Amino acid sequence: MALETKFKQTLKKIKLNKKEKILVALSGGKDSTVTAYLLKKFGYNIEGFHINLSMGDYSKKCLDAVEKLCKQLGIKLHTYNIKNEMGGSMCYIRTSIQTTHGKGLKNCAICGVIKKWVMNREARKLKVNKIATGHNLDDEVQTFLMNILKGSPKLSANSGAITQNVKNEKFITRIKPLFYIAEDDIRAYSKKMKLPVVYEKCPCAFDSYRIQIREFTNNLTTKEKENIMQNFDKLSDKIQKLKTSEELHYCEKCGEPSRNKICKMCQLVKKD
Ligand code: AMP
Ligand code: ZN
Repeated sequence: MALETKFKQTLKKIKLNKKEKILVALSGGKDSTVTAYLLKKFGYNIEGFHINLSMGDYSKKCLDAVEKLCKQLGIKLHTYNIKNEMGGSMCYIRTSIQTTHGKGLKNCAICGVIKKWVMNREARKLKVNKIATGHNLDDEVQTFLMNILKGSPKLSANSGAITQNVKNEKFITRIKPLFYIAEDDIRAYSKKMKLPVVYEKCPCAFDSYRIQIREFTNNLTTKEKENIMQNFDKLSDKIQKLKTSEELHYCEKCGEPSRNKICKMCQLVKKD
Protein backbone atom coordinates (compact mmCIF):
# COMPACT_ATOMS: atom_id res chain seq x y z
CA MET A 1 0.00 0.00 0.00
CA ALA A 2 1.25 3.47 -0.84
CA LEU A 3 2.81 5.52 1.92
CA GLU A 4 0.32 8.39 1.61
CA THR A 5 -2.66 6.02 1.93
CA LYS A 6 -1.21 4.41 5.05
CA PHE A 7 -0.53 7.85 6.49
CA LYS A 8 -4.14 8.96 5.91
CA GLN A 9 -5.47 5.73 7.40
CA THR A 10 -3.47 6.32 10.56
CA LEU A 11 -4.85 9.86 10.89
CA LYS A 12 -8.36 8.46 10.46
CA LYS A 13 -7.71 5.80 13.08
CA ILE A 14 -6.59 8.38 15.64
CA LYS A 15 -9.44 10.70 14.58
CA LEU A 16 -7.26 13.71 13.94
CA ASN A 17 -9.27 16.87 13.40
CA LYS A 18 -8.26 19.52 10.86
CA LYS A 19 -9.23 22.29 13.28
CA GLU A 20 -6.77 21.15 15.91
CA LYS A 21 -3.45 22.95 16.16
CA ILE A 22 -0.63 20.46 15.85
CA LEU A 23 2.97 21.15 16.73
CA VAL A 24 5.30 18.97 14.66
CA ALA A 25 8.53 18.17 16.49
CA LEU A 26 11.10 18.65 13.74
CA SER A 27 14.59 17.23 14.19
CA GLY A 28 15.80 17.87 10.63
CA GLY A 29 15.73 14.13 9.92
CA LYS A 30 13.65 12.37 7.26
CA ASP A 31 10.87 11.08 9.52
CA SER A 32 9.70 14.31 11.13
CA THR A 33 10.20 16.14 7.82
CA VAL A 34 7.89 13.71 6.00
CA THR A 35 5.40 13.95 8.89
CA ALA A 36 5.16 17.74 8.52
CA TYR A 37 5.13 17.59 4.73
CA LEU A 38 2.20 15.15 4.63
CA LEU A 39 0.18 16.78 7.42
CA LYS A 40 0.43 20.06 5.53
CA LYS A 41 -0.34 18.39 2.20
CA PHE A 42 -3.56 16.92 3.64
CA GLY A 43 -4.69 20.27 5.05
CA TYR A 44 -3.90 19.99 8.76
CA ASN A 45 -3.19 23.02 10.89
CA ILE A 46 0.50 22.67 11.78
CA GLU A 47 3.42 24.62 13.16
CA GLY A 48 7.00 23.42 13.57
CA PHE A 49 9.07 23.06 16.72
CA HIS A 50 12.81 22.47 16.74
CA ILE A 51 15.13 21.94 19.68
CA ASN A 52 18.59 23.18 18.80
CA LEU A 53 20.81 20.79 20.74
CA SER A 54 23.90 22.94 20.10
CA MET A 55 25.97 19.99 18.97
CA GLY A 56 28.27 21.84 16.58
CA ASP A 57 28.07 21.34 12.86
CA TYR A 58 25.44 18.59 13.09
CA SER A 59 22.99 20.89 14.89
CA LYS A 60 23.66 23.71 12.42
CA LYS A 61 22.76 21.41 9.53
CA CYS A 62 19.58 20.28 11.31
CA LEU A 63 18.44 23.84 12.03
CA ASP A 64 19.15 24.80 8.45
CA ALA A 65 17.06 21.90 7.09
CA VAL A 66 14.17 22.65 9.44
CA GLU A 67 14.18 26.36 8.51
CA LYS A 68 14.15 25.46 4.81
CA LEU A 69 11.28 23.04 5.28
CA CYS A 70 9.10 25.47 7.22
CA LYS A 71 9.70 28.18 4.63
CA GLN A 72 8.83 25.73 1.85
CA LEU A 73 5.64 24.65 3.62
CA GLY A 74 4.73 28.18 4.69
CA ILE A 75 4.44 27.24 8.35
CA LYS A 76 5.61 28.97 11.51
CA LEU A 77 8.73 27.58 13.18
CA HIS A 78 9.35 27.80 16.92
CA THR A 79 12.88 27.09 18.08
CA TYR A 80 14.27 26.28 21.49
CA ASN A 81 17.99 26.65 22.01
CA ILE A 82 19.15 24.28 24.70
CA LYS A 83 22.35 26.24 25.36
CA ASN A 84 20.43 29.47 25.99
CA GLU A 85 17.63 27.84 27.95
CA MET A 86 19.51 25.25 29.98
CA GLY A 87 23.02 26.64 30.06
CA GLY A 88 24.81 24.02 27.99
CA SER A 89 24.78 21.90 24.85
CA MET A 90 23.12 18.47 24.92
CA CYS A 91 26.63 16.90 25.01
CA TYR A 92 27.55 19.00 28.04
CA ILE A 93 24.28 18.31 29.91
CA ARG A 94 24.46 14.61 29.08
CA THR A 95 28.08 14.26 30.20
CA SER A 96 27.38 15.98 33.51
CA ILE A 97 24.38 13.69 34.08
CA GLN A 98 26.52 10.63 33.31
CA THR A 99 29.19 11.89 35.70
CA THR A 100 26.62 12.17 38.49
CA HIS A 101 24.52 9.09 37.73
CA GLY A 102 27.09 6.76 36.21
CA LYS A 103 27.84 5.74 32.66
CA GLY A 104 25.03 3.16 32.67
CA LEU A 105 22.62 5.82 31.42
CA LYS A 106 22.55 5.71 27.64
CA ASN A 107 23.03 8.84 25.53
CA CYS A 108 19.76 8.45 23.62
CA ALA A 109 17.79 7.73 26.78
CA ILE A 110 18.99 10.94 28.46
CA CYS A 111 18.45 13.04 25.32
CA GLY A 112 14.99 11.49 24.92
CA VAL A 113 13.89 12.41 28.46
CA ILE A 114 15.09 15.99 28.05
CA LYS A 115 13.48 16.43 24.62
CA LYS A 116 10.11 15.08 25.80
CA TRP A 117 10.13 17.36 28.84
CA VAL A 118 10.94 20.42 26.71
CA MET A 119 8.39 19.48 24.03
CA ASN A 120 5.50 19.09 26.46
CA ARG A 121 6.24 22.37 28.24
CA GLU A 122 6.74 24.43 25.10
CA ALA A 123 3.72 22.88 23.35
CA ARG A 124 1.59 23.81 26.34
CA LYS A 125 2.89 27.39 26.30
CA LEU A 126 2.01 27.57 22.61
CA LYS A 127 -1.49 26.28 23.41
CA VAL A 128 -1.45 23.55 20.78
CA ASN A 129 -3.79 20.56 20.89
CA LYS A 130 -1.27 17.88 19.95
CA ILE A 131 2.39 17.17 19.36
CA ALA A 132 3.32 15.08 16.30
CA THR A 133 6.61 13.21 16.17
CA GLY A 134 8.26 11.27 13.36
CA HIS A 135 8.50 7.86 15.05
CA ASN A 136 8.19 5.16 12.40
CA LEU A 137 7.35 1.45 12.21
CA ASP A 138 10.98 0.42 12.71
CA ASP A 139 11.40 2.64 15.82
CA GLU A 140 8.21 1.25 17.32
CA VAL A 141 9.03 -2.40 16.60
CA GLN A 142 12.43 -1.88 18.22
CA THR A 143 10.94 -0.20 21.29
CA PHE A 144 8.24 -2.85 21.64
CA LEU A 145 10.77 -5.70 21.40
CA MET A 146 13.17 -3.95 23.78
CA ASN A 147 10.41 -3.60 26.38
CA ILE A 148 9.49 -7.26 26.02
CA LEU A 149 13.12 -8.39 26.25
CA LYS A 150 13.65 -6.21 29.31
CA GLY A 151 10.58 -7.83 30.87
CA SER A 152 8.63 -4.59 31.04
CA PRO A 153 5.77 -4.80 28.51
CA LYS A 154 3.98 -2.21 30.63
CA LEU A 155 6.34 0.41 29.25
CA SER A 156 4.73 -0.14 25.86
CA ALA A 157 1.51 1.34 27.19
CA ASN A 158 3.00 4.71 26.24
CA SER A 159 3.33 3.52 22.69
CA GLY A 160 0.70 3.53 19.95
CA ALA A 161 -0.06 6.01 17.20
CA ILE A 162 -1.61 8.25 19.88
CA THR A 163 -0.96 8.49 23.63
CA GLN A 164 -3.92 7.12 25.51
CA ASN A 165 -5.23 7.08 29.01
CA VAL A 166 -3.33 10.12 30.15
CA LYS A 167 -5.88 12.38 31.72
CA ASN A 168 -3.86 15.31 32.85
CA GLU A 169 -4.47 18.87 31.79
CA LYS A 170 -0.77 19.70 31.61
CA PHE A 171 0.03 16.75 29.38
CA ILE A 172 -0.16 17.36 25.63
CA THR A 173 -1.31 14.33 23.63
CA ARG A 174 1.37 12.99 21.29
CA ILE A 175 0.68 11.44 17.91
CA LYS A 176 2.89 9.39 15.59
CA PRO A 177 1.42 9.54 12.08
CA LEU A 178 4.23 7.32 10.67
CA PHE A 179 3.61 4.57 13.24
CA TYR A 180 2.71 1.98 10.56
CA ILE A 181 5.22 3.07 7.90
CA ALA A 182 8.61 1.40 7.41
CA GLU A 183 11.78 3.48 7.58
CA ASP A 184 13.00 2.48 4.10
CA ASP A 185 9.74 3.69 2.55
CA ILE A 186 10.02 7.02 4.38
CA ARG A 187 13.62 7.48 3.22
CA ALA A 188 12.64 6.73 -0.39
CA TYR A 189 9.67 9.11 -0.21
CA SER A 190 11.71 11.99 1.26
CA LYS A 191 14.29 11.56 -1.53
CA LYS A 192 11.62 11.37 -4.21
CA MET A 193 10.05 14.60 -2.94
CA LYS A 194 13.52 16.19 -2.58
CA LEU A 195 12.74 17.35 0.94
CA PRO A 196 15.41 19.23 2.92
CA VAL A 197 16.65 16.43 5.18
CA VAL A 198 19.81 15.68 7.16
CA TYR A 199 20.45 12.00 6.42
CA GLU A 200 23.45 11.54 8.68
CA LYS A 201 22.87 10.01 12.09
CA CYS A 202 23.21 11.98 15.29
CA PRO A 203 26.92 11.76 16.28
CA CYS A 204 25.96 10.76 19.84
CA ALA A 205 23.50 7.96 18.92
CA PHE A 206 25.37 4.90 20.05
CA ASP A 207 22.83 3.26 22.32
CA SER A 208 24.26 -0.26 22.11
CA TYR A 209 21.08 -2.09 23.07
CA ARG A 210 18.92 -0.41 20.45
CA ILE A 211 21.68 -1.00 17.86
CA GLN A 212 21.64 -4.73 18.63
CA ILE A 213 17.86 -4.82 18.29
CA ARG A 214 18.05 -2.78 15.09
CA GLU A 215 20.47 -5.33 13.59
CA PHE A 216 17.80 -7.94 14.23
CA THR A 217 14.81 -5.90 13.01
CA ASN A 218 16.69 -4.82 9.86
CA ASN A 219 16.51 -8.45 8.80
CA LEU A 220 12.72 -8.55 9.09
CA THR A 221 10.48 -7.85 6.13
CA THR A 222 8.05 -4.93 6.25
CA LYS A 223 5.23 -7.46 6.51
CA GLU A 224 6.84 -9.05 9.57
CA LYS A 225 7.32 -5.63 11.18
CA GLU A 226 3.67 -4.81 10.45
CA ASN A 227 2.63 -8.11 12.00
CA ILE A 228 4.51 -7.31 15.20
CA MET A 229 2.75 -3.96 15.52
CA GLN A 230 -0.63 -5.44 14.62
CA ASN A 231 -0.13 -7.85 17.49
CA PHE A 232 0.82 -4.89 19.61
CA ASP A 233 -2.46 -3.18 18.67
CA LYS A 234 -4.40 -6.30 19.69
CA LEU A 235 -2.60 -6.39 23.03
CA SER A 236 -2.75 -2.65 23.49
CA ASP A 237 -6.09 -2.50 25.32
CA LYS A 238 -4.87 -5.08 27.78
CA ILE A 239 -1.57 -3.29 28.27
CA GLN A 240 -3.46 -0.03 28.83
CA LYS A 241 -5.44 -1.67 31.62
CA LEU A 242 -2.25 -2.67 33.38
CA LYS A 243 -1.56 1.01 33.70
CA THR A 244 -4.84 2.49 34.78
CA SER A 245 -3.90 2.17 38.42
CA GLU A 246 -1.00 4.54 37.81
CA GLU A 247 -2.04 8.13 38.20
CA LEU A 248 -0.20 11.11 36.81
CA HIS A 249 0.95 13.55 39.46
CA TYR A 250 2.77 16.83 39.12
CA CYS A 251 6.52 16.81 39.67
CA GLU A 252 7.35 18.39 43.03
CA LYS A 253 10.29 20.24 41.50
CA CYS A 254 9.21 21.49 38.10
CA GLY A 255 5.43 21.08 38.19
CA GLU A 256 5.33 19.05 34.98
CA PRO A 257 3.11 15.94 34.74
CA SER A 258 4.89 12.87 36.06
CA ARG A 259 4.22 9.28 37.07
CA ASN A 260 6.43 9.75 40.12
CA LYS A 261 6.85 12.44 42.76
CA ILE A 262 9.88 13.74 40.91
CA CYS A 263 9.79 13.54 37.12
CA LYS A 264 12.45 11.73 35.07
CA MET A 265 13.92 15.03 33.93
CA CYS A 266 14.38 16.38 37.46
CA GLN A 267 15.78 13.05 38.62
CA LEU A 268 18.48 13.48 35.97
CA VAL A 269 19.10 17.20 36.28
CA LYS A 270 19.44 17.85 39.96
CA LYS A 271 18.86 21.52 40.49
CA ASP A 272 19.65 21.60 44.21
P1 AMP B 1 14.63 10.44 18.15
O1 AMP B 1 14.35 10.36 19.60
O2 AMP B 1 15.87 11.23 17.82
O3 AMP B 1 14.54 9.13 17.44
O4 AMP B 1 13.46 11.32 17.53
C1 AMP B 1 12.12 10.94 17.57
C2 AMP B 1 11.24 12.10 17.18
O5 AMP B 1 11.41 13.17 18.12
C3 AMP B 1 11.61 12.72 15.83
O6 AMP B 1 10.97 12.06 14.77
C4 AMP B 1 11.11 14.13 15.99
O7 AMP B 1 9.72 14.23 15.76
C5 AMP B 1 11.38 14.42 17.46
N1 AMP B 1 12.70 15.09 17.64
C6 AMP B 1 13.91 14.50 17.74
N2 AMP B 1 14.88 15.41 17.87
C7 AMP B 1 14.28 16.62 17.85
C8 AMP B 1 14.73 17.98 17.95
N3 AMP B 1 16.03 18.27 18.09
N4 AMP B 1 13.82 18.97 17.89
C9 AMP B 1 12.50 18.69 17.76
N5 AMP B 1 12.02 17.44 17.67
C10 AMP B 1 12.88 16.42 17.72
ZN1 ZN C 1 10.29 17.71 37.20
